[in-house]
Amino acid sequence: MNQPHSIPGFKKLSIRKRLGLGVAILVMPLLVVTFSGYLLFHYALEMMDHMYEEVYEEFVPITTLRERILHSLMPANDYLVHGDLIERKHYHKLRQEVADAFSIALAIQFTNPQKSARILSSHDLWKQVDQLSTDILALEDPQGNVTGAQKMEQLDWLVDQIHEQLGYVASISITELRTRHQLLHDIRLKISAVIVVFVLLVSAAVLVGSLLIRRWVIMPLTELETGAQQLADGDLDYRIEVNSEDEISRVAHTFNEMASALKHDREILHSLTIHDNLTGLLNRREFERLLNIELLRSLRHEFEFAVIMVDIDHFKKINDSFGHPAGDTVLKAVAIRISESLRPSDVLARYGGEEFIILLPQTGSHGATTYGQRLCTLLSSTPVDITAAIQPVVTVSVGIAIYPADHDNLANLINAADKALYAAKAAGRNRCYLYKDLA
Ligand code: GH3
Ligand code: MG
Ligand code: MG
Repeated sequence: MNQPHSIPGFKKLSIRKRLGLGVAILVMPLLVVTFSGYLLFHYALEMMDHMYEEVYEEFVPITTLRERILHSLMPANDYLVHGDLIERKHYHKLRQEVADAFSIALAIQFTNPQKSARILSSHDLWKQVDQLSTDILALEDPQGNVTGAQKMEQLDWLVDQIHEQLGYVASISITELRTRHQLLHDIRLKISAVIVVFVLLVSAAVLVGSLLIRRWVIMPLTELETGAQQLADGDLDYRIEVNSEDEISRVAHTFNEMASALKHDREILHSLTIHDNLTGLLNRREFERLLNIELLRSLRHEFEFAVIMVDIDHFKKINDSFGHPAGDTVLKAVAIRISESLRPSDVLARYGGEEFIILLPQTGSHGATTYGQRLCTLLSSTPVDITAAIQPVVTVSVGIAIYPADHDNLANLINAADKALYAAKAAGRNRCYLYKDLA
């Protein structure tokens, strides 16, 4: 298969470059058309110039001929006035010039038959003029010669006729020249306008096309790329803006859903790592992390706080008497009761088995003891409702250690609270002991 992506090196091109290449391929024929139009325009102009020159080439010989015929009058006229023989020589020269001009004018291939006819009739008239001039210049006594004067009069009339004939040819040429010139001018303007409009349209199309491709394809792709990079960098809150329903937007939408699902899963995972499965309380690891933070805070602000260990009394008996599931129910019920007895700023966790641990921030031995006793009373005063028939009274023993009075590090503090708890157990259970009172 000869697919585009099998072209070597094409795979390496970015989408941006591929689109650019596509646009260039599309624009190429337009440029070729524009260039061809330009060449045609020039060709047309050359043709017009040629037409123009044609008329111009007709016009110049005719006016030259007119001038020379007018000049050719002079020697005969002057000869009659002054009788100078030099005029014969002058005429001979001028006559030759007129003959030359006529041979050029007669050789012209006129498109307009009227012009050819007028040149021919002028030529016939010129023959008569020539004859008359020759006759006058041949006179022996030109000055005051009556025949000479009559011939001169005839000569003038004939020259006037020629002048009129040639003038007519010249005026037709001028009119033609004007018409063609105007035509040329109009065509030139129209073709220029068409080319300019075409080039402007192509440029505008390329510009608008490029802008649209940038807006519709390049920018969303860049946004997608940024989103993927943010996700790869661990930012699961980043969302790609979706404001259309095209393929890229659908990918962006899927990407957003994927990021949401990942975020949700990560939150669940995090929650599982910090909570206890059975009671839903924080676990020991998370408690120790929070206790560490509180330790640093209290150290900085010189606060005290209490660590309280709570252990259910004779819990094994509950398991043994009513079964393990009943034991679980009791554990959950005690967790709820302890939880409800605390303030939001306090921290409660399941330390392990049937033991709970509590952090009371900014609390000294007096406050902690009051709370411990209240907790013992709270639990012992109301039996736990396992079933309608099974409602045991559950008591707890409580051990309290105070930071920084008892210890100033995490492990020792927990240890101290544990020791106080054991003392409470030893003293008969369902009571609360302070570490500092053990001695
Ligand atoms: P004491 O008054 O000295 O604390 O006696 P106790 O029976 O409460 O203490 P002991 O350490 O002898 O027994 C604790 C029991 O708690 C043993 C264990 O099987 C039970 N236990 C620990 N974790 C769970 C649990 O998640 N569910 C249930 N049902 N029982 C548990
Ligand atoms: Mg116990
Ligand atoms: Mg125990």
